[in-house]
Amino acid sequence: MSKPPVTKNQKLTLTISDLTYQGMGVGKVDHYPLFIEDALPDEVVDITVMKASKNYGFAKVINRHNDSPLRTAGINKTYTQTGIAPLQHLKYDAQLSFKRNQVVELLKKSHLEEIEVAPVLGMDEPVHYRNKAQVPVRMVKNQLETGFFKKNSHNFVPMEDYLIQDERIDEVIKSVRNILRKYMISAYDEKTHKGVVRHIIVRRGYYSHEVMVVLVTRAKKIPESDEIVDEILKACPDVRTVVQNVNQEKTNVILGKTEKILAGDGRITDSLNGINFEISAHSFYQVNSIQTEKIYQKVVEAAELTGKETVIDAYCGIGTISLNLAQKAEKVYGVEIVPEAIADAKKNATVNDINNTTFEVGTASEWMSKWSEDGIKPDVVVFDPPRKGLEPEVINSTVKLSPEKIVYVSCNPATLVRDIQLFTEQGYQVVKPIQPVDQFPMTTHIESVTVLKRVAGK
Ligand code: SAH
Repeated sequence: MSKPPVTKNQKLTLTISDLTYQGMGVGKVDHYPLFIEDALPDEVVDITVMKASKNYGFAKVINRHNDSPLRTAGINKTYTQTGIAPLQHLKYDAQLSFKRNQVVELLKKSHLEEIEVAPVLGMDEPVHYRNKAQVPVRMVKNQLETGFFKKNSHNFVPMEDYLIQDERIDEVIKSVRNILRKYMISAYDEKTHKGVVRHIIVRRGYYSHEVMVVLVTRAKKIPESDEIVDEILKACPDVRTVVQNVNQEKTNVILGKTEKILAGDGRITDSLNGINFEISAHSFYQVNSIQTEKIYQKVVEAAELTGKETVIDAYCGIGTISLNLAQKAEKVYGVEIVPEAIADAKKNATVNDINNTTFEVGTASEWMSKWSEDGIKPDVVVFDPPRKGLEPEVINSTVKLSPEKIVYVSCNPATLVRDIQLFTEQGYQVVKPIQPVDQFPMTTHIESVTVLKRVAGK
């Protein structure tokens, strides 16, 4: 068995040759790659080897000899260590090229290089964009703190400024933290599975400025919860609702199954492209409102509706895309797995006086085959799946439903390219350059809109 050419704690000087999809610099010793945080191509760095596995290792920069022209000054190490902003050291224009390039390379690897990729639609101000924050709560030196974990670890770092979150959200988190401290509420301890508050989640409507606070607790009861809620409402008059979510499991999953509304009605309102949305604690809602509006406009543009079409919005969440399309279609069917989101979707249709939509709770594959049996003939199918992309059954039922057009919103180019390949094997063709939209500046995530059409005769 060959041994790695480096050993732990070894010191070396290397030139960075590449940047991984996760934003790590790559330095090679012979052909052996070392992955290095906060290091960009063409930078010469003195490093210490942290870990040397058989085929690759990790190292830490001790000293940098030169700065890449793509490097931006004034970074905060905590944002890299916690994984909040793994690309913060890269100039924003270079972040956009890095993201576009990933889509191009993934297409090339699948022999789909003829598919074009448009320049990424970026943000004018690529910070403080998140309308939702979920931060862990822990005790540090006997004091309740809010913060974040270091990447791939359970090491908790107290923080107050999260760089990519709406700044008002950062302030609300601080106020809630101070009130919990005042009432001597304990924070969750993973080791003993004791303590009261596990996470604080804050959502803020981009246009409405309404704030939702969710206290995720291990304990069923929060001591003096009435007083605490009163103080939160007094300290933050923009808080419209406070929800307690109880999660008693030993798990990394943030939300538990039971919920209690402590103030307001468990929802906030916001709008996107002029349509109003009610959002509850459990519902998915895109975290970057400015960029989401751009994505939805691209979807509407791509769908080219004339008022006569039947549309399916699979993975519809609270119906945001469905309602953007409903105004221009004859009928829109939406399906979504989270019941609370479908309740919100139905309410959202009513609130906006839209009455040509039908929303169903279930999986996309289950409902698409049901709709196919019922003889529904969609002209356009819109997908906006989670990172794992489309299940093979969803692709098969889509092919059976045989829509003229598919509009695929993706948050993971790897599964997007895999699914494009499957659709092209079954008679569909990408008809426009893929349009990436930067929903998550400073991070490595890439969102995009792809339009496929059925090839004539198929
Ligand atoms: N289009 C919406 C939601 C996109 S996120 C928006 O833009 O806001 C993806 C959604 O798919 C989530 O709401 C998630 O709950 C839902 N989901 C996940 N797996 C699913 C499945 N198998 N079938 C249907 N919906 C699913």
